[in-house]
Amino acid sequence: MNNTGINHYLEAAKRAAAWHQQYLKEMKKCRFDTIAVHGIYSMQEALDFNQGSIIEPIYMSTSQAYRDSDEMEAALGYQIPTWCYSRIANPTIYYLEGVLALLEGYGADEDTSCIATASGMAAIQTAVDPFLLPDPKHPSSPVNFVATTQIYGGTFQQFAIRKQKERGVEWRKVIHSHDINEWEKLIDENTRFLYGEMPSNPGQAFFDLSKIIDLAHKHGIPMIVDSTVATPALMRPLALGADIVVQSVSKTLNTSGFGISGAVISRKNLTSNVDNPEMKADFSMYCKTLPNRDNGPNLSPMNAILAINDIRTLRSRVDLQSRSTMTVSKYLENHKHIEQVDYLGLESHPLHKLASEYLWLVDSEFDEQYGEKVNRYGHLMSFRVKGGAQAARDVFDGLQRIWRATDLGRIKSVATIPAISTHSQQGEEGRRLADIPMNLIRLCVGAEHPHDVIADLERALAVLDGKKIKATSPEFSAGGASSATLRR
Ligand SMILES: *Cc1c(COP(=O)(O)O)cnc(C)c1O
Repeated sequence: MNNTGINHYLEAAKRAAAWHQQYLKEMKKCRFDTIAVHGIYSMQEALDFNQGSIIEPIYMSTSQAYRDSDEMEAALGYQIPTWCYSRIANPTIYYLEGVLALLEGYGADEDTSCIATASGMAAIQTAVDPFLLPDPKHPSSPVNFVATTQIYGGTFQQFAIRKQKERGVEWRKVIHSHDINEWEKLIDENTRFLYGEMPSNPGQAFFDLSKIIDLAHKHGIPMIVDSTVATPALMRPLALGADIVVQSVSKTLNTSGFGISGAVISRKNLTSNVDNPEMKADFSMYCKTLPNRDNGPNLSPMNAILAINDIRTLRSRVDLQSRSTMTVSKYLENHKHIEQVDYLGLESHPLHKLASEYLWLVDSEFDEQYGEKVNRYGHLMSFRVKGGAQAARDVFDGLQRIWRATDLGRIKSVATIPAISTHSQQGEEGRRLADIPMNLIRLCVGAEHPHDVIADLERALAVLDGKKIKATSPEFSAGGASSATLRR
């Protein structure tokens, strides 16, 4: 076989890789905002390959053409970087993966990599499935994993139904995630990973992540963290030593609300008791080139560019939304119709101290405005309405500016009643474990002025005084219809 042709491409790929490594090294010296704005898309790449386009181009094309059979062979053998077919890889998706790997890895000593997926749920599946295969040396040993119960409703279903019920993989449930002993008691030699969501949606459960990471590594298993609520602007588990982070990119990262997307970000050389050197060396790349190539849960390039666009302003948005959420939660805390406000930023929250050790606005110490490290607690809060389920529904139905929707991290304020929506499928027992009563309203504060968000809440809460809600928006009065008749 004549290899000179292939060698030409291998050499070219080596030169490109060296250039790219150098570029990444320079990029890593930049601050978070700079990385968020530019990611891995360089002027050089724009001029050489993309007609100078200053914004990352959207490659909707399904596949890549090759110059000759040598290039094709090298590419399809994964010997040179290639995007061959868009289910496996795609330049626009690669830009998203690149920026997320850098942002989640910000401040970490080690290299990180990322695989984008079609949704947050697909990211969770991508992250956990490679660890749940039977052990070839002991094929009849049962496999288990240890995970918190205060998790996103979809994750609860994936773990309880798809893993445990359908596949017989045991989910060992951590109920009080801040209690380290509870985690430790559940681990045995068949445990494949520890998994936690923090802060959790909607309960804002929080645990001492560094200690749980140590616990995982003591047992030779990886720590997987769903960090959707915090985003890399507030917390970066990989820099603390975690092995894998999953993100529902659909949420705060893609705040405009265009499109579902997810991502797995992993450290190189992760800890695992599964005998698979390739997987341990570069987990995201392994998933990309093997399991996800075959399973196909991958993202659309269009959704990738929409996420890339919103990520550019992540830090300042999360700062603004966190400050507004603090203002709103303080208002609600003093309201006579409110039984309890849950927000990690409030000193009254039992986990406030612990959360304050972890949730910092990235680079605030280099910010002209702050000049020191400042805590920020995100945009997710919840409150319990006095008077039970019906009272909560009445208040919820009275909202006019805050949108009633099962969504999170939007640029617009959004509220939901988790017990009848996101967390309805898991049943009463599942909700009890996750502490989600019927009178709990989850509120995600957007980027509106907080006074307008408060005004909407005030109006809605006045329903409990027996006051009628007046329609204030001109759309309603113009049609001569009250909000009440519209609702009917
Ligand atoms: C929404 C969400 C998910 C699932 O993400 P999708 O993009 O909707 O599939 C997972 N985890 C958390 C914390 C979420 O809020």
